[in-house]
Amino acid sequence: MGVEVVRYNYRLRPGTTAAAALIEEWRRCRFLWNEAVHQFTTGRKPGFGTLCRQLTEARARSSWLRDGSQVAQQQMLRTYAQALDASCTVKGRGRPRFKARKKTLPSLEYTRRGFRIRDGRLVLPKGVRVPVVWSRALPSEPSSVRITRDCLGHWYASFVVTREAGPIRVVEENSGVGIDWGVARTATATEERFDLPHHGHRKRCAAVVLVRPAYTTMTCARCFARAEQPLGLEERIFRCRACGHTACRDRNAARVVLVVAERGHTGVDDVSQTDHLPPGGGGGGGAVAVRVGNLLPSGRRGVNRAPSGRRGIRWKPAMSSSPGLLQQHRPVCGRG
Ligand SMILES: [Zn+2]
Repeated sequence: MGVEVVRYNYRLRPGTTAAAALIEEWRRCRFLWNEAVHQFTTGRKPGFGTLCRQLTEARARSSWLRDGSQVAQQQMLRTYAQALDASCTVKGRGRPRFKARKKTLPSLEYTRRGFRIRDGRLVLPKGVRVPVVWSRALPSEPSSVRITRDCLGHWYASFVVTREAGPIRVVEENSGVGIDWGVARTATATEERFDLPHHGHRKRCAAVVLVRPAYTTMTCARCFARAEQPLGLEERIFRCRACGHTACRDRNAARVVLVVAERGHTGVDDVSQTDHLPPGGGGGGGAVAVRVGNLLPSGRRGVNRAPSGRRGIRWKPAMSSSPGLLQQHRPVCGRG
């Protein structure tokens, strides 16, 4: 058994004041990130320690920075330093880039000393109190929380908690979960309540279906109409011209992947617009669909698990017509 570290995600319902405070907190953190990027591009290359000293000095001078949480600000610099490290050690990872105001969604991180849970609310520094939709109980005292806002303006809290690692958990009947591995280190699941363990998701899966990434971000998860133009990477909202469906880009793509996998297919092209609706209202009975994107580090997670034993193959859209790979859609880790 043992203990596993997982994230538990909840919807937040901040009032006008709290939402404004979160946005302002994000503005300060984004400023610090961009300041670090600026220093790097102009030749000074401060590490985390130097950045923290600079932050202390800057907070002494600036009441605007002092009005924000030191924990959140330090965490932002820590994230920056980690991203910078990764850009040197992880192949293909670029340098941390400027976060533009209009193109970057708010994301704040608080360690244990930076937040509390009181009377069912998430209490942040400077008296910011945010109601949480407790869709289930936390299994333990959280060690940190990440607060994010998606492109539709919804706020979420993602708590890092520990819990007893049970035996293989099987996804409930008829509740497949599509996971969009579009970005190497984050995953978007179709169900917000579906928590992904930090180190892979394999314990929890009933079956893994590999789905070619081609068109998954261009296709409407509701009516399966395909957009004529691919969404630019900076475009965070999917809008269907055919049916008007609007969703976050990643969540829409995750749902498309799930629809494809539930029908036993491996690509968007295999599903026609007329038969995309679930047969008999049900799905593939707990299939977990993994979209193998072209950004995965050395083809891990998804491809390594293919039954054919091909390991470490990157699945680029350009290769998607390779017949050998197309056959890798049989369930890998069987139920129970
Ligand atoms: Zn549509």
